[in-house]
Amino acid sequence: MASIQSLLELQKIDTALLQLSHRQANLVERTNLTKAKSTLTATQSGQAIATAQLEKVKSQITNLELANKKCEAQIVKYSQQLRTVIAPREAEALQHEIETVRAERSANDDQELLLLETSERLELQLKDLDERINAGSVAVALATTALSEAIKGCETEKKLFDNQRQVVAAAIDLKVIKLYDNKRNKRTTPAVADLHGSKCQSCHLDLSVVELAALKKIGDSEIAECPNCDCYLVV
Ligand SMILES: [Zn+2]
Repeated sequence: MASIQSLLELQKIDTALLQLSHRQANLVERTNLTKAKSTLTATQSGQAIATAQLEKVKSQITNLELANKKCEAQIVKYSQQLRTVIAPREAEALQHEIETVRAERSANDDQELLLLETSERLELQLKDLDERINAGSVAVALATTALSEAIKGCETEKKLFDNQRQVVAAAIDLKVIKLYDNKRNKRTTPAVADLHGSKCQSCHLDLSVVELAALKKIGDSEIAECPNCDCYLVV
């Protein structure tokens, strides 16, 4: 049958189309974009965490400074009282109050110093995160472009195959196309294959001499089929 050669050609185009769609679904550019996006997202959440930490530290510093202002005011108040007090016991009590408030102020200063160090560290960290976010955004943009280029390439290739397919299919009897489609829909391996030596190129099994001889006897009105996998065979 003359159209079996064209059918084989059609099958080759369909195989190529299938491989192309598989390739398009598994583009390395898509994986790269996903990776770039998740890196950026992770950096952004790191930035959100560091920003929140910095805000907290800054508000703690503000609170300590307010507390120290109160301490200063108390020290001034007690010192003024001390000047007017006559009884030694009261003077002693005031002295004690002043010492207590001074100790509190000093502890606040120590804590503020630590918080200032933390805030400096966080600011540096945020600067670094900012740079990484900028770089990450560029990486995402580049990966997006690369992916869309790769998809475009696949689509161009697909158009070429589609055109080839139309030309090849137009030369084949519609009834044969239907037979081919039926067979193709029922299997994952090629529905049409040729022989390399005695090996079917669909199932990759060898045909016996007897089987080969029988297939060669098949007339033009029939299409030879592989005795192992049932595909149409070009013999
Ligand atoms: Zn076979």
